[in-house]
Amino acid sequence: MSVFTPKLCLDKVTDITPELLRRNGIKGIVLDVDNTLTLHGSQEVKQEVLDWLAWMKEEGFLLTIVSNNYEKRVRPFAQRLDLEYVSFGCKPMTKGFTQACKKFSLQAKEIAVVGDQIYTDILGGNLKGMFTILVVPFELETGWTFRLKRSLEKIHLRKYHRLHKEH
Ligand SMILES: [Mg+2]
Repeated sequence: MSVFTPKLCLDKVTDITPELLRRNGIKGIVLDVDNTLTLHGSQEVKQEVLDWLAWMKEEGFLLTIVSNNYEKRVRPFAQRLDLEYVSFGCKPMTKGFTQACKKFSLQAKEIAVVGDQIYTDILGGNLKGMFTILVVPFELETGWTFRLKRSLEKIHLRKYHRLHKEH
């Protein structure tokens, strides 16, 4: 499978269940922030996301944020949710994901990466050998670089849907 292809595509982070993770041998979750847990740049988190985080913790999954955003954006967010974090994670480079493996004392294949972008979250997670889950972004960013990226992502998503239709 291509490094650009997510292992799984879901609508939102709260669609992830303990059963789905256990079935795939997952014990830890690496979470993106912007457009995965909340709106881009926002400190607000929906109640259903808070409930989901509490549920995952209760079920014994290890959680950490790995964000490409800056320390001053990520730290207060992570602290409010009582989550560990890596800021300036440089995704798709695997630095932040390697830190997550060490933090959890888990192998890469026992960790799921959840994010809304193929060229950072999914590519980095796949390169590291993690279980990658793409979610639909909360809102589409404006600006031509994002628009270009999103239209390129569609090519990889077509591949994903083709693969999954065959099975
Ligand atoms: Mg994101």
